[in-house]
Amino acid sequence: MATIVNWGGTLSFKPAFVEYPQNEWQIADIVKKARSEGKTVRVVGAGHSWTPLIRTDDYLLSLDRIQGLISVGNLSAWVAAGTRLKRLGALLFEQGLAMENLGDIDKQSVAGALSTGTHGTGMSFGVIATQATEISFIDGTGEKRTLRDSEPDFKSVAVSLGAMGVITAVRLRLLPAYNLECMKRKEKLDDTLAKIDDYRFNNRNFEFFWFPYSDYCAPKIFNVTDKQPIHRPLKKYLVDVIYENGTFKLVSEINRMAPSLSRYISRMASAGLSSMAEVHHSHKIYATPRYVRFVEMEYGVPAEEGPTVMQKIRRFIAQNHIRVHFPLEYRYVRGDDLTLSPAYGRDTVFISCHMYKGMEYNRYFKGLEPIFLAHGGRPHWGKIHGLNAADLKPKYPKWEEFMRVREKYDPDGVFLNLYLRQLFGIVKK
Ligand SMILES: Cc1cc2nc3c(=O)[nH]c(=O)nc-3n(C[C@H](O)[C@H](O)[C@H](O)COP(=O)(O)OP(=O)(O)OC[C@H]3O[C@@H](n4cnc5c(N)ncnc54)[C@H](O)[C@@H]3O)c2cc1C
Repeated sequence: MATIVNWGGTLSFKPAFVEYPQNEWQIADIVKKARSEGKTVRVVGAGHSWTPLIRTDDYLLSLDRIQGLISVGNLSAWVAAGTRLKRLGALLFEQGLAMENLGDIDKQSVAGALSTGTHGTGMSFGVIATQATEISFIDGTGEKRTLRDSEPDFKSVAVSLGAMGVITAVRLRLLPAYNLECMKRKEKLDDTLAKIDDYRFNNRNFEFFWFPYSDYCAPKIFNVTDKQPIHRPLKKYLVDVIYENGTFKLVSEINRMAPSLSRYISRMASAGLSSMAEVHHSHKIYATPRYVRFVEMEYGVPAEEGPTVMQKIRRFIAQNHIRVHFPLEYRYVRGDDLTLSPAYGRDTVFISCHMYKGMEYNRYFKGLEPIFLAHGGRPHWGKIHGLNAADLKPKYPKWEEFMRVREKYDPDGVFLNLYLRQLFGIVKK
């Protein structure tokens, strides 16, 4: 039995079977078999979630053999659900097309990114699932379903934590390929927060990183440009791999061995922030390599609450002498109408906090969670949080509708592991 470990190292388990189906018939057969045996099926994408969504003792499916472009239409494409975002970006670029927005890594599978409400940043862009216009999946009875975004059930299936079925293909709404100019600078956190509306409304994409205990943050903006990419692979390698990841890995190891140095290490890291500008094809510029592993919690709060929440977090860290040197990330996402999207019904600021892998994170995350909750926070489904069904239900106006749709497509709970049962409040019959 293979041991499955997720990227962040928060999950390790041994499913009885790890299957790599190559087509929908094989998936349907596995689902029907599991259903008849009373067993559970979970699907793993790239294993980049921190929560135990993919855990199962029974059947784990990987769609690594179901990747690639299926067909290309007018500013749209059908994409195999297992396709990794990085590969997808390259395939679309060959067709003169691009996704409208991405998060800060491109390792995820298409279905994995949709299923947890994965997002990038930018006031005009929803979570990645809002880029989907049709979804095909094998439901809990082994039947193939295809839903369009005009159908009510689509709204629940688009962000569904793998609880509706095995997504096999997604039709994405696309843009003609475009180039982005990215600019990063060092600025006082108070100044950035004071002009936050200017930043968020006057740039296509805006985010910032803030190092705990420091007065400084790093605002980052992206705007469409006619400029052509300047390829400087050596410089990029030196900055991204050697400086940003290599040096940070070294100081992180020092901090792991001597956590009391967090405050100094975090300030030192912020002192190293510098300005930079880069132009590249869109699919090459959103993502940053992440060689330093960490554990993350992220909450979405209403967009207007962002600066207040950020200041409260800053005070909490200082007053409680939290041992953390990893920066926090602050990103905007447009509100949507997807039933379980953390941005449902409201423009949202996502604030994420990170802890170096191997360092204690409970005190930090448990201390910040009440701050987010006091401001109507909803957790990222793929990242650490401490909520259960009773906490979550009042946060999602269409919670019951999601549960109805889930029951419709998976009446016997083939896709429900223990974690999802706790999350949804569903007792095993
Ligand atoms: C370094 C790092 C950076 C990250 N950056 C961001 C970011 O910028 N923005 C953001 O929002 N999140 C971010 N995340 C979180 C990440 O995007 C999500 O956890 C995402 O769901 C991971 O995708 P995955 O392909 O690894 O899916 P997994 O983690 O393997 O699975 C996630 C969920 O999708 C389901 N699933 C996967 N494939 C299928 C399928 N074919 N059919 C049905 N269900 C399926 C799984 O069952 C599970 O419920 C980051 C994570 C890491 C580790």
